[in-house]
Amino acid sequence: MKQLIAGNWKMNGSLEFNQALLTALAQGLETAPRAEVALCIPAPYWAQFRVLCAQYPALKGVGLGAQDVSAHPGGGAYTGELAAAMLRDFDCRYAIVGHSERRQYHGETDDAVAQKARQALSCGVTPIVCVGETLADREDGRTFEVVKRQLAAVIHANGPCISEAVVAYEPVWAIGTGRTATAEQAQQVHAVLRAQLMAATARADRVRILYGGSMNAANAADLLAQPDVDGGLIGGASLKAADFLSIIGAARR
Ligand code: PEP
Repeated sequence: MKQLIAGNWKMNGSLEFNQALLTALAQGLETAPRAEVALCIPAPYWAQFRVLCAQYPALKGVGLGAQDVSAHPGGGAYTGELAAAMLRDFDCRYAIVGHSERRQYHGETDDAVAQKARQALSCGVTPIVCVGETLADREDGRTFEVVKRQLAAVIHANGPCISEAVVAYEPVWAIGTGRTATAEQAQQVHAVLRAQLMAATARADRVRILYGGSMNAANAADLLAQPDVDGGLIGGASLKAADFLSIIGAARR
């Protein structure tokens, strides 16, 4: 299975900025990329992405992703929410769930994240389930306990369907800080998550476990070479075409 390199644009972009970024990415992706590529773009720009996909065939293989999805089924009084079925209508292949910024600023609990993953899976959208410890958790020696608790909630709500999900290990202290987990630190946590998945499904080998947290052109090759690192979730560096393309080029074959 190819590694997956997913960009998380967060609340960045504009029509003009996206046009330039996606055009540059299209040029860079003209030769078959080493990895599967996805872009989690703010929803108002999905139509722009589709227009550019029609214009640049190299973008056609890029999976569209949402940055969140509602924990509720479609239809209902949930102002501001996007249902998984709506994502499906727009051919979204992925939806990030449980990003630490959502857990921190929007109070998302493990249970809410599990329900979001469930909604996505029920509509054929692949959830990218984020887990990760804070710096305080790490310093207290609670890294494994925290990530296992976060993943356990999603496994509990989804059973063996977890084999259809993607997991992203994103240490909170590494997101947007320029401070990256070492390849060894990432591998250690990924191996723990893999073992947890193996206890839940016979198909744990097909669950891609991404690393996210200040991955960049300089450190990507080392991180992506680890046996249980199946790709990356990239924030800041996904907003610069050259950096994002370098990360894609660093994927393990
Ligand atoms: C992220 O937001 O998922 C992320 C990994 O951000 P950054 O790469 O900027 O640390």
